[in-house]
Amino acid sequence: MQAFKNLIGGEWVDAADGATFENRNPAKINEVIGVFPSATAGDVQHAIAAAKAALPGWANLPAPARGVILDKASQIIDARQKELAEILTREEGKTRAEATGEVLRARDIFKYAAGEGWRAGGDVIPSNTGGELLYTRREPLGVVALVTPWNFPIAIPVWKMAPALIYGNTVVFKPASFTPEIGYRLVEILVEAGLPKGVVNLITGSGRLVGDVLVASKDVNGVSFTGSYSVGMKIYEKAMPNLTRIQLEMGGKNPMIVLNDAKIDMAVNLASMSGFGVTGQACTAASRVIVEEGIADEFVAALTAKARSMVVGDGLETGVQMGPAVSEDQFKTDLDYIKIGKDEGAKLLTGGERAKDGGYYIQPTVFDEVDIKMRIAQEEIFGPVISVIRVKNLDDAIEKANDIEFGLSAGIVTNDMQKAFTFANRIDAGVVKINEPTTGLALQAPFGGFKNSSANTFKEQGAAAIEFYTRTKTIYVGHG
Ligand code: NAP
Ligand code: MG
Repeated sequence: MQAFKNLIGGEWVDAADGATFENRNPAKINEVIGVFPSATAGDVQHAIAAAKAALPGWANLPAPARGVILDKASQIIDARQKELAEILTREEGKTRAEATGEVLRARDIFKYAAGEGWRAGGDVIPSNTGGELLYTRREPLGVVALVTPWNFPIAIPVWKMAPALIYGNTVVFKPASFTPEIGYRLVEILVEAGLPKGVVNLITGSGRLVGDVLVASKDVNGVSFTGSYSVGMKIYEKAMPNLTRIQLEMGGKNPMIVLNDAKIDMAVNLASMSGFGVTGQACTAASRVIVEEGIADEFVAALTAKARSMVVGDGLETGVQMGPAVSEDQFKTDLDYIKIGKDEGAKLLTGGERAKDGGYYIQPTVFDEVDIKMRIAQEEIFGPVISVIRVKNLDDAIEKANDIEFGLSAGIVTNDMQKAFTFANRIDAGVVKINEPTTGLALQAPFGGFKNSSANTFKEQGAAAIEFYTRTKTIYVGHG
């Protein structure tokens, strides 16, 4: 078992007081897979100072030259994809296929960002006086803190880090404590790719401690956070006094609407992919399936059969379709919500129990006859639990889909284009999927939620990422 270190100013170091925490495998509860530093407040301050010191050199490097390093990182990820996917599965629990998809996404995001180095620039704006050049210049925001969750532990850090780096920022990166190793490997790869000292600093340890120091620091110019609503709100409050730029992407309780004309097979595949994929632990998971009355009985029977057929187990084993919950806490939360659903009077059609011993395995679970006001229809569970809500028609479906504090992603299954576009226009969600799973995002398109799913400040990914990771200067040149 390896003892890992943090990276501060280009040096691999232990926590100042030597404290550590264990990284465990959720598929084999007693397997400790690594030991990581529990950073102290002082360690975090050192990391911020190192990022600040590295900023001028990195910012002044031409963007295409920064891109060369990101491109190299992309190549290393490609070469190590099998090993990286295994690391990811072992610490997070998702299946090997899911982990491989995520690793390849990280590879592709670096490739995309490297290309942005050749493109991103300012604007020339028409002047209203003669003899003047009026233009904008994009500058790096500065030192950015990236605080990320465990559920996509390489894709999310990379979709923050790649734009941060290409636009000339330096980084303090705080991965989630359930999944520190893949974050460590990512940083190791950037070092191997030639990243100068101090440009990325890795700090592992308690979110509360590390996060507080990062967010309260006057030397941190931006915080990009993905995680739960409750933690996001704390970060927002702490960042406000310093006017630190903030981006928060948080929870979801995403609906998928199934209309009467839907093809059953397709609707069931999309619902189960969206609800049970990555063990229901996607921020964009469909945890509410809103079904029109005419198709409801047939749909629910087929979804139940599908849920029963799924093979749950260690994601490293072949044939396994769904891995364990990430942790004991998440496992208990899933079971608690299943109990709440039963107590609220929802009809449990399948699942609801531990699937097998040895890991945090939960059965794929389907509730029918769920009322929109029930807690299982309103609160993010983050497990493989689908709540079926029956509705009269499209209007009823959209109304119920919008009757929620969250607004991350939303889907509809129908061949009626008029209804599909009505839904797309009226749904309160940042991502809309027509005849596609609610999960899965294009790396070149803007991503972010509405309502309590987001701070609604800046979008992530694609061309939109430049808005968060740069500041704009406006320059007036009189030459008349
Ligand atoms: P979380 O508990 O909010 O943790 C997210 C990150 O914040 C972790 O690195 C955590 O560190 C850190 N943290 C904890 N307390 C903190 C504090 N007081 N100050 C600063 N940072 C702190 O979320 P999670 O359980 O890892 O992830 C699941 C959540 O993420 C779900 O709600 C899901 O919907 C959401 N999510 C949203 C998106 C999106 O794009 N909208 C994508 C994926 C996931 P520790 O690990 O050390 O506690
Ligand atoms: Mg772990």
